[in-house]
Amino acid sequence: QKSAVVIGAGVAGIAVAIRLAVKGYAVHVFEANNYPGGKLSEFTKDGFRFDAGPSLFTMPQYVDELFRLAGKNPQDYFSYQKLDTVCHYFYPDGTRIKSTSDADLLAAEIQTQTGEPAGHVSQYLQNSKRIYGITNHVFLEQSLHRLRTYLSFKTLKSVLQLFQIDAMRTMHRANQSFFRDKRLVQYFDRYATYNGSNPYQAPATLNVIPHLEQHLGAYFPEGGMYSITQKLVELATSLSVKINYNAPVEEILLRDNRATGIKVNGEVIEANIVVSNMDVYPTYKKLLGKRPDLHPQKTLRQERSSSALIFYWGILSRFDDLHLHNIFFSGDYKAEFNAIWKEQTISNDPTVYINISSKLQPGDAPDGCENWFVMINVPANNGQDWDALVNTSRRNVIKKLSSMLGTDIAPLIVSESVLDPRNIEQRTSSYKGSIYGSSSNSQLAAFLRHANRQSKVKNLYFCGGSVHPGGGIPLALLSAKIVADWV
Ligand code: FAD
Repeated sequence: QKSAVVIGAGVAGIAVAIRLAVKGYAVHVFEANNYPGGKLSEFTKDGFRFDAGPSLFTMPQYVDELFRLAGKNPQDYFSYQKLDTVCHYFYPDGTRIKSTSDADLLAAEIQTQTGEPAGHVSQYLQNSKRIYGITNHVFLEQSLHRLRTYLSFKTLKSVLQLFQIDAMRTMHRANQSFFRDKRLVQYFDRYATYNGSNPYQAPATLNVIPHLEQHLGAYFPEGGMYSITQKLVELATSLSVKINYNAPVEEILLRDNRATGIKVNGEVIEANIVVSNMDVYPTYKKLLGKRPDLHPQKTLRQERSSSALIFYWGILSRFDDLHLHNIFFSGDYKAEFNAIWKEQTISNDPTVYINISSKLQPGDAPDGCENWFVMINVPANNGQDWDALVNTSRRNVIKKLSSMLGTDIAPLIVSESVLDPRNIEQRTSSYKGSIYGSSSNSQLAAFLRHANRQSKVKNLYFCGGSVHPGGGIPLALLSAKIVADWV
């Protein structure tokens, strides 16, 4: 039997392990932490349960597909519900928008709350859908680094339409051309943050993202986001995948430019193929440190995506105005992104995202309480004084939320944990603590992302949010699919 070693039990590592096991490989996963999931993990504190990282679940079909591949009916193992109410938006001027999964209802709600004609929203979402139709097959579902990709009729058709994907102007510029109301431009600019980018620099092609949320839907997994990890680990285990915890891989072993295995806890493990789910930067710098000739310098120099600062607050109250996903916008979006990208700091008026899983799953918080995951976008770690930034931001966030909700929230915080770019890097080896690998702030970003295979080393593959096709759970799962197809 052929054998495979996977470095890391992030969601992409587990997915690739499942796919290789289905192909008949004996798969061993080595995970540095004593728990699976990497960024997609959870913790409990003071009676509150928190999903540690991702909170928005889109494109569940890529999880379902793994069960089907293993000959199982996904619905028997993994349940999730489609959200009717997707997100509550709060603006500093008092405007509120409740976004719903129904595009017509959303357009009507936007017209009622802001006066922007509903037709503008519908046209915008149609444009978003069109970009998806052209890009999905070429940029997401296949390798961009494999000749075969370019030889199919479907790809050629997409390539001929590429001039229609709006890559030559920024998201912000495009959004200004669709909407006359600044609140709507801000609303749709925010989607750049779904892959850690800057709407004032990222190509308007990223306006594809609202289609994923609005047309394909936003979902909530039963048990919370972490259940994605749990259920996939169970599936992998049922396919005889062995997951080894507390197992930080030290080196990828090569012979004649062929991967032959790994070194972990001082022991050599041989395998026919090696897949790294570790961020591509430390994979080269640490695990292939002896072979600088292999390091793809241009790829490794890519600008990193933004990171996040999260306050996990147990709140001794319930807020009827809040839903599962809530956004409290900043007053000056441009200044906020300039702070992150140009000044490498955090604005004093950041946009605040609150996720409250206890809204749908009351057991996540004690009676009469809510579990608030309070996140702001921050720069990747370039050695800033994070202790000072965290303290100042905590004050700013409390002040902003108290004023916008009309309640002093400081005395309601009965439990607190904090995650900043330093911990993100320590816990998952993500270079600079960036949460989506490299940023998508340039037209070439999609092409500069690392391929899913090492071009000079046989049998060495890469999956996860730092390589093609990019960050976020759906794309990380697609990277695993591309690796398995390539193998
Ligand atoms: P990771 O989760 O980083 O896993 C890599 C694993 O490899 C880790 O477990 C790590 O310990 C292990 N590892 C690293 N080096 C070694 C080594 N040498 N030996 C052994 N093991 C090693 N995505 C969404 O879709 N929706 C969201 O709402 C969303 N929000 C997010 C919010 C936050 C705060 C964060 C941090 C991320 C968010 N994301 C979101 C992004 C999403 O979490 C990631 O894109 C995805 O989970 C990446 O999975 P991965 O498998 O690539 O990597």
